[in-house]
Amino acid sequence: MGDCFICNKHAGSIQSSGVMIYEDDYVYVGHIDRNGKPNYLGHIMIDLKRHTPTLGDMTVEEAQAFGVIMARVSKALIESEKAEHIYSLVSGNSVPHLHMHIVARYPNTPEEYWGPMEVYDWEEAPTGDNNAVIELCTRIKTYLENHAHE
Ligand SMILES: [Zn+2]
Repeated sequence: MGDCFICNKHAGSIQSSGVMIYEDDYVYVGHIDRNGKPNYLGHIMIDLKRHTPTLGDMTVEEAQAFGVIMARVSKALIESEKAEHIYSLVSGNSVPHLHMHIVARYPNTPEEYWGPMEVYDWEEAPTGDNNAVIELCTRIKTYLENHAHE
């Protein structure tokens, strides 16, 4: 799978925004990369390690790992980043390797911008450069390490 963006990211052969948040045998968690455009802070990606396209392709072991980290990352965004709600989305239209978008919604987001993609359109949405993304990733990573059994 030499041409898959996500496989190449896991192999460490391409550079992506922020730093790795969590990784085990089944899943990889990091922040979305926007190719130098300002990052919406708290748009996390959970990737299955194995190259397969859909939610329905997961083994039971993969699905357990995926579900648990989905809940833990969401809780970390709420507790550490003060998100008031968490959106999730699986598309795969552009990269056929299973990955779930986890998107924080922050307090005071006007209702017309509620949604996993819509939050980007809010002018006052919290955005940041790569340093801000690295700091956010580090806070989430630390939260997960400090709450390993929740
Ligand atoms: Zn892949």
